[in-house]
Amino acid sequence: MAETKYIFVTGGVASSLGKGIISSSIGKLLQARGYNVTIQKFDPYINIDPGTLNPYEHGECYVTVDGHEADLDLGHYERFLGIQTTKANNITTGRIYKSVIDKERRGDYLGKTIQIIPHITDEIKRNVKLLGNKYKFDFVITEIGGTVGDIESLPYLESIRQLKWELGKNALCVHLTYVPYLAAAGELKTKPTQHSVKELQSVGIQPDILVLRTEHELSTNLKKKVALFCNVDDNAVIESRDMPTIYEVPVRMQEQGLDRTILEKMGLPVGETPTLGPWKDFLNRRHKATEVVHIGLVGKYDLQDAYKSIHEALSQAATYNDRKAEIHFINSEKLTDDNIEEALKGMEGIIICPGFGQRGIEGKFVAAKYARTHNIPTFGICLGMQCMAIEFARNVLGYADANSREMDEKTPHNVIDIMEEQKSITNMGGTMRLGAYECVLEQNSKTFEAYKQEHIQERHRHRYEFNNDYKAEFEKAGMRCVGINPESNLVEIIEITGLKWYIGTQFHPEYSSTVLKPHPLFLSFIKAAISK
Ligand code: GLN
Repeated sequence: MAETKYIFVTGGVASSLGKGIISSSIGKLLQARGYNVTIQKFDPYINIDPGTLNPYEHGECYVTVDGHEADLDLGHYERFLGIQTTKANNITTGRIYKSVIDKERRGDYLGKTIQIIPHITDEIKRNVKLLGNKYKFDFVITEIGGTVGDIESLPYLESIRQLKWELGKNALCVHLTYVPYLAAAGELKTKPTQHSVKELQSVGIQPDILVLRTEHELSTNLKKKVALFCNVDDNAVIESRDMPTIYEVPVRMQEQGLDRTILEKMGLPVGETPTLGPWKDFLNRRHKATEVVHIGLVGKYDLQDAYKSIHEALSQAATYNDRKAEIHFINSEKLTDDNIEEALKGMEGIIICPGFGQRGIEGKFVAAKYARTHNIPTFGICLGMQCMAIEFARNVLGYADANSREMDEKTPHNVIDIMEEQKSITNMGGTMRLGAYECVLEQNSKTFEAYKQEHIQERHRHRYEFNNDYKAEFEKAGMRCVGINPESNLVEIIEITGLKWYIGTQFHPEYSSTVLKPHPLFLSFIKAAISK
């Protein structure tokens, strides 16, 4: 295809309607037709990236292979499309302004007054087109965070208006709204949708396609009414009803011809409808898997979005093991030696979650100890792996005061420590080991059995590391360092091979688990959890 096509996805009426899932579904359907697709997210907040945001504010921080701390929607893009995103796939208002202000300081604007229009909007437009220009994608889908009508969204909407004008048929706007059901009246209401479209029209954007999120089926009449009042074609009003799994959404969108309508509107040949074979096989397997595997998630954030990728990786791995994952949050702040048995009752496997800071850390040690001494399959991720090492140092090696330098600056037994070269860094943003690093696996290990290959690459997001001074002692006592970074010699994976499944990874394997390529460690963890 000669020219890159741009699809914008905006949202109205309410936040959290699932723009990320709709964007991913559109991407999936176009990709299934053989197009080269990428998706990017523009977030209208001032932070440079979500790296410093509290998970309660913004859910999990996703990490790209090139080490960008990104919005969790990029996780959906990767899980649906099986692509790898980068820093260029996630832009914030903070980054747009920073780049404009840096240019102003350098004198690039030759004495001009710098304004939102045209300077900020030009920078937004440049970023919208960046990936398309550089990598010649057939489609670049741009999801705009926030809700139409927010003050901070305005420069993005003005940029879309200009781009639609400039690009003609090569640009298209999909607007996602919500159709509420008023129980007292027994009616579905389209007025919020009409208002939200008016809001877009008032800034000069006519949406081409409307996707209506709803809890109930929408009648043909209702959709026709929306089409008429909002100036869109009848076949461009798509229903997006709540689904038992988000992975069902592309199939429902295809059934209503969303991809066909997009192609027609952009002047592209429609051709055969792709069968989505492997995707549908996954869904069938998921529906058939009724037997449950119970996994305890030991962490401190009582919020699903905070561990989004772990949830998805577990549920994908469960499907491939013909099980349904039931994930139970276990608040590590409340765990003690006295209640741990009760808290982990019925759990067939436990995850010790990643995290930062002191809060809830002691409970993670309690869980690690109980799981280790009761041979419960256990997966420690990042801080979770560090907790496994500290617990082992305390209770097996006999260093009662063992700790991570993060939790206890003065610990004499710093089994987890900060690297020498990081000590001078004081700026909280971007001081971590981030992104994909190489790791070499020890052949004769449970980890190798799972990966079935010696060389792997996984994504990191942490400051502290396993202290190699203790390596020999750990290994002698049975906790082996089975994954090593070949460049820095840092320990990336620990395991107790004698136990059923007791593995900790310094990296985050959950980021690279996708629907069609579930992660080998999660697969083998679930397999161990269900083996009696
Ligand atoms: N807080 C730990 C560190 O910085 C672990 C981080 C994490 O779990 N992502 O090393």
